[in-house]
Amino acid sequence: MAKKMLQFISQQKEMPNKRGAQARTEDFDEIYADFSAESAEEQASRCSQCGVPFCQVNCPLHNNIPDWLMLTAENRLQEAYEMAASTNTFPEICGRICPQDRLCEGNCVIEKGFESVTIGAVEKYVTETAFEEGWVAPIEVSHERGQSVGIIGSGPAGLAAADLLRRKGYQVTVYDRYDRVGGLMIYGIPGFKLEKEIVTRRAALLEQGGIKFVLNCEIGKDITFDELREKHDSVLIATGVYKARDIKIPGIGLDGVVPALDYLTASNRKSLGDDVAHYENGTLNAAGKDVVVIGGGDTAMDCVRTAIRQDAKSVTCLYRRDKANMPGSQREVQNAEEEGVTFQWLSSPHALLGDGTVNAVRAQRIHLGQPDDTGRQVPETIDNSDFDLSADLVIKALGFDPEDLPSLFAQDALKVSRWGTVQIDWKSMMTGMPGVFAAGDIVRGASLVVWGIRDGRDAAEQMHNFMEAALRGEDRAAS
Ligand code: FAD
Ligand code: SF4
Ligand code: SF4
Repeated sequence: MAKKMLQFISQQKEMPNKRGAQARTEDFDEIYADFSAESAEEQASRCSQCGVPFCQVNCPLHNNIPDWLMLTAENRLQEAYEMAASTNTFPEICGRICPQDRLCEGNCVIEKGFESVTIGAVEKYVTETAFEEGWVAPIEVSHERGQSVGIIGSGPAGLAAADLLRRKGYQVTVYDRYDRVGGLMIYGIPGFKLEKEIVTRRAALLEQGGIKFVLNCEIGKDITFDELREKHDSVLIATGVYKARDIKIPGIGLDGVVPALDYLTASNRKSLGDDVAHYENGTLNAAGKDVVVIGGGDTAMDCVRTAIRQDAKSVTCLYRRDKANMPGSQREVQNAEEEGVTFQWLSSPHALLGDGTVNAVRAQRIHLGQPDDTGRQVPETIDNSDFDLSADLVIKALGFDPEDLPSLFAQDALKVSRWGTVQIDWKSMMTGMPGVFAAGDIVRGASLVVWGIRDGRDAAEQMHNFMEAALRGEDRAAS
């Protein structure tokens, strides 16, 4: 039954049911259930329809949240879906994995004293309903264009651009060095946050809509960047950031010390049904081991929760700041705590011990000193505060940097920042090379799926403008 809006006084905030910690650690399935139709309508009806909706302002896609909440409350789900899909290429994915507490919901300005409106779970509900009802269809092109686009990288940035450009009728080819489409959505983010089928379902739809995927193809090795430029009228670099940051401490080269993404990729491949013996190589599985994860971001949270699901003997997260200063989402920290992860806050490793293979982490206690230029308190080690943690698997989750793209692509003209991210003109999304655009993590540094989608969509619009201008130029030259 259709609901009236502004129900936040009588209706409490609710999230979809979360599976109990014990049950959810036994598999890699998502931990949240779907809303029922009744709950989705009730939760959507809590929105007070703000004149200036800060939820929308703080969504990187500026989704029209108040309107699709109202349509959901009125049980007009197809319209709600169409509105959500008009600004978001993958609403079912963002509804699941955006850190809503920092974006839309964290900025919901419902009356003081009331909890925010539940937005992400409603976005997921609306889109899953659309899939069930058959409202999500492959792209149908009414007017094919002759110009073609080459996109390097099939993560959210590359796919969002591919989708919009194909809708405009361009011939779109996406190249990826991996054997599957999705970038970090398929091989980084674990299934308990985003089930693999959600990503493969989208990839299949894009392919049915006429987007070509060339997989197992690394630009710079299998095809040169110059060859790619020759083939296409414009090119998008959406390669993400993959070079794992390291720490220089004694013992870091011991066996059993692994980068986070190698570990997560092996686990994700297993969930996808691949034979991972080759990837695991005896080290990338936490079963029966004492595991220590170094780092405090979302990648670290994904590693600790994966290790719990692999039946590790113990799982400890070592982080040099305190809980309040974790870069990772508080929601994910809470999930990890519920699932049995031990946190050693204000602790930093200063040696890994072992003879050939790691068997312990030697750590020191930290206290937070004066704030630095960025306003964050500087971690300072406390003298004589050493302690050892048993560890047969140490996972380094310290963040990612870009690879050296100018060298890989043999393009001195490709300008990068001092961090190695590709420099673009933010208005045109174009690099210094005509017709070469860039989007996503390779421009921003490690970021979020929703920002990748935003950048990919923006880049698609600018590539379209560029190719239209090129056509007009050709017309003028011919006349
Ligand atoms: P990517 O997703 O990294 O895709 C880049 C693609 O380019 C890859 O498929 C790669 O194989 C391909 N590629 C690279 N170089 C080449 C080449 N030379 N030739 C051909 N192909 C190439 N964000 C969230 O919003 N929520 C989360 O919960 C979340 N969890 C995360 C968990 C982990 C473990 C990690 C690592 C990241 C997480 N993120 C999360 C961040 C998010 O996944 C990224 O910000 C996002 O995927 C970036 O999108 P992208 O398209 O720029 O790059
Ligand atoms: Fe919120 Fe992300 Fe959806 Fe925007 S895309 S409304 S930030 S969940
Ligand atoms: Fe509704 Fe909150 Fe957005 Fe206001 S800020 S429109 S109450 S969801």
